[in-house]
Amino acid sequence: MTPVTCFAGHKVALFGLGGSGLVTARALVAGGAHVAAWDDNAKARDKALEAGLTLVDLTTADWSAFDALVLAPGVPLTHPTPHWTVEKAKAAEVEIIGDIELFCRERATIAPSSLFVAITGTNGKSTTTALIAHLLKVTGHKVCLGGNIGVPILALDPPADGRIHVIECSSFQIDLAPTLAPSVGIVLNVTPDHLDRHGTMENYAAIKERLIAGAEFSVIGDDDEYCRAMHRRREGPAVAISGASAIDGIYVQPGSRLVERRSGDVVTTLADLTGIRSLRGAHNGQNAAAAVAAVSPFNIPAKVLQQGLASFPGLPHRMEEVGRLGKVLFINDSKATNADATEKALLSFEDMFWIIGGKAKEGGIEPLRPLFHKVRKAYLIGASSVDFAATLGSAVVFDHCGTLEVAIEHAARDAAQSDAREPAVLLSPACASYDQFPNFEVRGDHFRHLARALIARVDEP
Ligand code: ADP
Repeated sequence: MTPVTCFAGHKVALFGLGGSGLVTARALVAGGAHVAAWDDNAKARDKALEAGLTLVDLTTADWSAFDALVLAPGVPLTHPTPHWTVEKAKAAEVEIIGDIELFCRERATIAPSSLFVAITGTNGKSTTTALIAHLLKVTGHKVCLGGNIGVPILALDPPADGRIHVIECSSFQIDLAPTLAPSVGIVLNVTPDHLDRHGTMENYAAIKERLIAGAEFSVIGDDDEYCRAMHRRREGPAVAISGASAIDGIYVQPGSRLVERRSGDVVTTLADLTGIRSLRGAHNGQNAAAAVAAVSPFNIPAKVLQQGLASFPGLPHRMEEVGRLGKVLFINDSKATNADATEKALLSFEDMFWIIGGKAKEGGIEPLRPLFHKVRKAYLIGASSVDFAATLGSAVVFDHCGTLEVAIEHAARDAAQSDAREPAVLLSPACASYDQFPNFEVRGDHFRHLARALIARVDEP
């Protein structure tokens, strides 16, 4: 844990007692702050009590006594309307911050020259964060990985020289971190998302830009206009990255999958992604280019960098290869809860036996129509089956399977019997999981379990 000492002896209001809220409260208490914790949800309050925190009803509290409101990132700061705690804090002129900000202040106090790599973007944050952490670990660095991925930032060891914090930041977290100034700041891409919480694209992009504005060295995507504009505005050292074109900067050649650096007329090959199964697809090209750029100040020898990329295990539920039965690959892409994410999988494989469905998002799978020709057959599960069948129409052969169990059996059988060289049984549902599963992780775990059981059954003598 990182005890937060900047509020030692002071009163701090803390709202939002989910996983990261509890950690933040404990870190503040450990640093000597008097924390008045609260949540609208009674169950969350009970948990906080069990954890030994002091609850204070912030609806009736004297806000002039607080030096800060520490807000969980899920609580609306500006849109659709500011949360009532935000209104109260503003009325009492109390600053509003989050856990990343507390980390930044602690770092500035106890280890200002410690290395801090911060990653944001609309998509690819977790993959890029995990890849950077992996590349640094395999080259012998002590790495603390967390933030919006896995472990809350204040649950990690404190910043220290010789220790590198590699932190995924959501736009909500950046919005609550006014002094965010990482050693390396990365913005991968900015496309429409979370506009209910950020109002406009301009506001959303401006929040993302704050992560690189204060960075010593920045890595900026070149594949969308919002990021290109950020790069033009950037004054400090920066490198552009692309998964799509040979720009001045670090990019992946779409044809060859070579990671190259171009500087004027000089092109240097840095690595080769060919055959690296955890980094399939152009989107992972963008993630890999960003990771290579982020670790460039560490001067990793080319051979070691190549080995590091090749040994990246990838993240679960994101085009995760969970097994192979003869020529048939089983791919768990349960994290693909909308058409945009599923598009990445459909672009990355050929001859797909595609398991799809759940609780559909607006627009359904219509945006995927240009890729329907790559699908050998679709296997419909969950609440969206009727609607998706209507969209597939005569463009794709499909089966109504109802459940994942039935779908994987049918898909595995059809794939094995097909003439495809390397068919993929792909769970990339383009839907939320809530109609049949508690969350996408449980859905993906179940798919992995079913695939492995199928493989074990056939492998038995
Ligand atoms: P995030 O943490 O930003 O949600 P992840 O790394 O967890 O991103 O990837 C989630 C999904 O987003 C992936 O399954 C893939 O469909 C898509 N994705 C990953 N990287 C990118 C990228 N660079 N550009 C666009 N989409 C991406």
